[in-house]
Amino acid sequence: MSLSNMTKDEIGNLILRLQEKKKELQWFTPVGLSAEKFPDPIDEAGATTERDLGVTQANMIQAQLKEVTSALQRIEDGDYGVCVDCDEYIHAKRLSRLPWASRCIECQTKAEEEEKKKKEKVRLRSTESVGEMEYFNKSYIIERKQQ
Ligand SMILES: [Zn+2]
Repeated sequence: MSLSNMTKDEIGNLILRLQEKKKELQWFTPVGLSAEKFPDPIDEAGATTERDLGVTQANMIQAQLKEVTSALQRIEDGDYGVCVDCDEYIHAKRLSRLPWASRCIECQTKAEEEEKKKKEKVRLRSTESVGEMEYFNKSYIIERKQQ
C-alpha cells in the first residue's frame, strides 16, 4: 500500500491513529520502576525481577514509540507504506493491523530472527554470571506471591 492510493480522509485517520498510539505510549508507566524499599530478602529478590521486567517493558515501549514516530515522519516524507529494507509496498492488511510497520512481513521476519540470534548470544553470556536457576527461582517466588 502507498500513500498515493489513499484518500485525504484515510491519511488523516492514519495520522490520528498514530498520534493516539504515540500519546498512549508516552503515558505508559512500566511496572516495578517505582523506587520502593523491601524489608526481607525474599521480597528483595522478587523486587529485582519485577524491576527487570519494568526495564524490559520500558525498552519495548521506547522501541515502539520510535516506530510510531518514524511512521509519522514517513507519512510526512511521502514514503509511508514502503518497506525500509526491500522498497516493496507493505501489504494493506498488515498496515491496518500495524499502522507503524516499517517493513514488509518477509523483511520483518528476517529482522526478528537476526534480533533473536543477537539476544541469544547476550543471554548465553549473561547466564554465565547470573545462573539460570536463580532466575527461575525468582519468577517462582513472584508467582507464589500473586496467588
Ligand atoms: Zn521488505
